Amino acid sequence: MAPSSIAILGGGLTGLSAAFHLSRRFPAAQITLLNKDTRFGGWVHSSRDKITLEDGRETSVLLEAGPRTLRPNSKSVLELINLLDLSSSLLTVPKSSPAARNRFLCLPGTQGLLRIPSSPLSLLTSVLSPKSSSLHSPLGHILLSAVAREPFRKWTRLSWLEDESVDDFLTRRFGSEFARIFGSALVHGIYAADSRELSVRAAFPSLWDAEERGRGSVMTGFLRSSRASATAEVDDVPYLLGDVEEQMRGVSVYSFSQGIGALVNALVRELRTHKNVRLLGGVSANGLRMNRRTAQFEITSSSRETLRATHAVSAVPLPSLNALLTPNTPLPHLTANPYSSVTVVNLVFAVSPGHTLHPEGFGYLVPRAVSGHAENTILGCVFDSSSMSAQEAPWGAEIVKMTAMLREPVVSVPRLIETLSQQLGIRLPDPLLVKVQDNVHCIPLLRVGHLQRMRDLDCVLRGEPWGGRLEVIGAGVGGVSVGDCVEAGRRAGRSWT
Ligand SMILES: Cc1cc2nc3c(=O)[nH]c(=O)nc-3n(C[C@H](O)[C@H](O)[C@H](O)COP(=O)(O)OP(=O)(O)OC[C@H]3O[C@@H](n4cnc5c(N)ncnc54)[C@H](O)[C@@H]3O)c2cc1C
Repeated sequence: MAPSSIAILGGGLTGLSAAFHLSRRFPAAQITLLNKDTRFGGWVHSSRDKITLEDGRETSVLLEAGPRTLRPNSKSVLELINLLDLSSSLLTVPKSSPAARNRFLCLPGTQGLLRIPSSPLSLLTSVLSPKSSSLHSPLGHILLSAVAREPFRKWTRLSWLEDESVDDFLTRRFGSEFARIFGSALVHGIYAADSRELSVRAAFPSLWDAEERGRGSVMTGFLRSSRASATAEVDDVPYLLGDVEEQMRGVSVYSFSQGIGALVNALVRELRTHKNVRLLGGVSANGLRMNRRTAQFEITSSSRETLRATHAVSAVPLPSLNALLTPNTPLPHLTANPYSSVTVVNLVFAVSPGHTLHPEGFGYLVPRAVSGHAENTILGCVFDSSSMSAQEAPWGAEIVKMTAMLREPVVSVPRLIETLSQQLGIRLPDPLLVKVQDNVHCIPLLRVGHLQRMRDLDCVLRGEPWGGRLEVIGAGVGGVSVGDCVEAGRRAGRSWT
């Protein structure tokens, strides 16, 4: 049955993307989106903050408290850029630039940064070219032995194994030191979580698939996949990409001149022009039930209005959805995953043009200490001005902008700067600006078994009383990247014909 009214809970990128695509697909349906915060966009939070340069000039700097750069591999985001006419404000980082090629690790308890190869292929290259600088770092030995031995390791995945942690997977294929150093650092950078808890199938399905394709060897599987994936069609509904895909050729990551918030602002602006869409900011859903007599969803909210809809999309965090349900219609697994918290500290320093405070590169990550995950206060630091100095054009060269990611709230800014100085191997000056944002419970940790639990949830949603008319999507379901979230919104309601 085609929907005549749709309620969307949550106005982060998932909910906004769902509203955008559903309103195009069902122009006759009345769509109402409720968002608890008055500001739309959820964890996307770009701001322009005033700074005074050393010569007294006043200006502003673009700061991100949430996502800051996106990879061009998500066609659904490229499609939005095309449809929302955002391509003129794109800022891209070419794959060949130092900002894309140079990624670093800072080993816990040591000073200074170590450069790492950034892809499986460059891992292989580092094995094949013995003069590679990474081999002269302490990481070279670990990489060399892990990568060179991997194809010869026996097929060690047990036939009954359906999932395992990222750490277990990498230990099995590449050895425990590789898993602790490279695997934990990667997971710190994306999930701010412990790689020993995160599901490899949910977080890095390409690793699991590569092992299968390579008949037990991830490296062999990756080499095979580059040929196969070139022709693979990602979705059955063609993406409307205009010339944006072409613009993204050779691009490593991108953002916008006004940050990732530009995507949210453009979506909100566009949706406000859709006659069939109502966006309600600052309105929290308090209850969700299915009225079996009218076969309609009833959503009670902080505005005291009871919203009735034939179809509904939940794009709020799963524990929030759990709190909305009545005891007689529970949904399974909504509280199975914990959420990580991340404190984001934006730092801006003045420098003389041509000078910098860090090597050119994307930034660095801090792996798990030998003594355990709890030791890691700083998860990593992004060198924003290496990749996005154009956000401050034309005077971007006069500042260094970087962002530290922490597992815990900041106790002392001077102590944080001291620790960053040690990690960078340079004495950082007093900053022009420090902005601290505690993002509490912001990233779902997709625990081992996540995919099976989501299949169970989907099965229950297709049965009574929901009858396939409630879609549950968002970072806690189909993946945390902006691309995953926008894609989930694009696919919402595919079965509602
Ligand atoms: C610090 C940080 C850095 C990140 N960096 C990147 C990056 O560089 N690249 C990348 O791809 N991804 C990144 N991510 C991940 C990505 O930003 C998020 O996974 C994504 O934005 C989540 O979108 P969402 O809409 O699913 O959820 P959310 O952003 O959580 O939105 C949910 C919305 O629901 C609303 N809500 C909650 N409860 C209710 C209720 N009861 N009623 C109504 N509304 C409700 C909230 O107000 C919120 O607006 C980062 C995330 C964080 C936190």
